[in-house]
Amino acid sequence: MASKVYFIKAAVSDGEKVISDKAVKLFKAGKFAKCFAEKDFTAVKVHVGEDGNNTHIKAPCMKGLIKELLKLKTRPFLTDTNVLYPSPRHDAIGHYKVADKHGFNLETLGIPFIVAGGLVGTSEIAVEVNCEINKEVYIASDIVWCHSILAVAHFTGHLGTCAAAAIKTLGMGCASRRGKMKQHAALSLVIGDKCTLCGVCAKHCPADAITLGEIKAHIDQDKCIGCAECLAVCKFGGVEYDWHEEGEVLQKSIAEHALGALKGKQDKAAFFSFLMSITKDCDCFDTPNMPKIVDDIGILASTDPVAIDKAALDLIEAEGGKKLPQLTGYTKLNPHHQIEHAEQIGLGSTDYELIELD
Ligand code: SF4
Ligand code: SF4
Repeated sequence: MASKVYFIKAAVSDGEKVISDKAVKLFKAGKFAKCFAEKDFTAVKVHVGEDGNNTHIKAPCMKGLIKELLKLKTRPFLTDTNVLYPSPRHDAIGHYKVADKHGFNLETLGIPFIVAGGLVGTSEIAVEVNCEINKEVYIASDIVWCHSILAVAHFTGHLGTCAAAAIKTLGMGCASRRGKMKQHAALSLVIGDKCTLCGVCAKHCPADAITLGEIKAHIDQDKCIGCAECLAVCKFGGVEYDWHEEGEVLQKSIAEHALGALKGKQDKAAFFSFLMSITKDCDCFDTPNMPKIVDDIGILASTDPVAIDKAALDLIEAEGGKKLPQLTGYTKLNPHHQIEHAEQIGLGSTDYELIELD
């Protein structure tokens, strides 16, 4: 049977209150209350946006959804995990400060922001998945311990996976530091002939894996953790990578970590995906005012993370009149790898029924 994906048109220009109300409309239409029980510790998985990023989904847009959880007498908390690359969100203190600055706090939403995985992302639980790439995955302990999950994703492009949405929110976004490193270990980057020896990548590398030689920079593969930060910061195309070969492994590993994050909670999770301010790169970029790659579309909601990502991809490609790799410019990436692998390992179904609300 096809998974139900609920959809309502929405745009940033609607304003935060209207967007919040529309999300509640989806919550009620999809009867998502059934996923949550009184006294549940409910993880509201969000992305608070990098410091400086202003295209992430704003905290007040989630107000209505959180009120619904509070009405159900769950014990919800906002959460995310620390990132690998140099950023204020690299540790829980900096992450908390950025979350607070962007309104993901008690004052705005009535519930606290708690970094899953602890101060430096080492609080984790190994979860057995027995999949093609990973036999076990490492998930932030608070994600494993909570009883239910409301995962709120912002659909964007992504330099490693082409698409970042529900599956990536679960897989990368709920993984511990070790889990993230395991996923990124699929990447193998080298410095090519376009390197100008500017040194920016070496300054940003969290593993001190880059040294500057006579002609170009060099990556020590034994130290490299595959975070792709050098790729993100190099403005000269100096960092090279075989996306076609290795992007698939990364995406499969993300899907397998998503399975681990959801293990035992398949009936206790709801997914919301905001298809607004859809940018080429994800909310981890500190760049303000990143341009949209398509016009705002709306909000999706489902209990199936695979179905919601497939529906989002279809809507975006229909709106943009092109495939996502062309819309993002990441033409060597195929966003279907994560979706198809997620379906194969039993995370959900690509067969969906889109139910549009007025
Ligand atoms: S790879 Fe790029 S960022 Fe690194 S030194 Fe060369 S030009 Fe600079
Ligand atoms: S060299 Fe490796 S660890 Fe350093 S920034 Fe690049 S991908 Fe990350």
